[in-house]
Amino acid sequence: MRIGSRVQVVILLSLLISTAVFFFDLYFPLGVAGSVPYVALVLVGLIAQQPRVVIVLAIVASTMTAVGYYFSPSGGIYSVVIINRGLALFAIWSTAIVSYFHLKMLAKLEPLATTDQLTGLYNRHYFTSELVKQINIWRRHQQSLSIIILDIDYFKKVNDEFGHLTGDYALKTLAAICDKQLRDIDTLARIGGEEFAILLPSTNVNGAMQIAERIRKATEAYAFNHDGHAFGMTVSLGVSELTDESWSITEFVGSADNMLYKAKGAGRNRCVARTID
Ligand code: GH3
Ligand code: MG
Ligand code: MG
Repeated sequence: MRIGSRVQVVILLSLLISTAVFFFDLYFPLGVAGSVPYVALVLVGLIAQQPRVVIVLAIVASTMTAVGYYFSPSGGIYSVVIINRGLALFAIWSTAIVSYFHLKMLAKLEPLATTDQLTGLYNRHYFTSELVKQINIWRRHQQSLSIIILDIDYFKKVNDEFGHLTGDYALKTLAAICDKQLRDIDTLARIGGEEFAILLPSTNVNGAMQIAERIRKATEAYAFNHDGHAFGMTVSLGVSELTDESWSITEFVGSADNMLYKAKGAGRNRCVARTID
């Protein structure tokens, strides 16, 4: 669900539930724990996935429970009414507290599930979900969509000569070099050990090739330096634009992978794009 539509659903559900329960409170005699369904109002905060919204809705639900009590027709047994209202408030706040901490925990876990720990880039899992999303958009709007797969040349040598920590430094530095060349709407991810993928919405193969070439040149020109080790590094890149309606994700990624393979075979430190026939 998009954020915009989620907010609309939350507002609509809050209004519906508040109105329904409030009228329930008005027309049923005291003693009926009519305000217990206000718990549903708190759960709407869960849909919003906003801890603060949960608390605000719990305050609204508590206030309406009290106001409902004040306006309810008289006639119930006083102690029963108080116990029921007390239980309603307990239900509202226990739901709110559990939901609040649940959402806080999710907010902490989410980056771990989508981010590569070493480089801070998105991971393969997130990249795949973004691919699904962008391919669906492409099918609807037919705006161009391109992908670049990048692999470091002879990276094993960097590790062997300078050690794993310098290798890690090179991966982090390369991530920053690539990121600098991209727009906010592009998705850059580390999809394997020394393999990166870039998804470029609204970009055709020529545009993607220009970006790939910029990354290649920037990497070649960069003076890597870590722990007394100064070295150069190059990358090979495979580029492909989505042109075939029937392609699966694997076929789209595979088409760029094939181009990467060609770039490696042709001597490395180059970009190869799939030609569109
Ligand atoms: P090619 O030009 O054909 O791509 O050669 P290559 O040496 O880059 O490719 P190869 O697949 O032989 O080696 C990849 C290396 O990447 C081996 C592995 O140790 C290293 N690597 C993978 N993940 C990490 C990592 O997280 N940190 C470090 N330092 N090295 C890694
Ligand atoms: Mg590799
Ligand atoms: Mg490599």
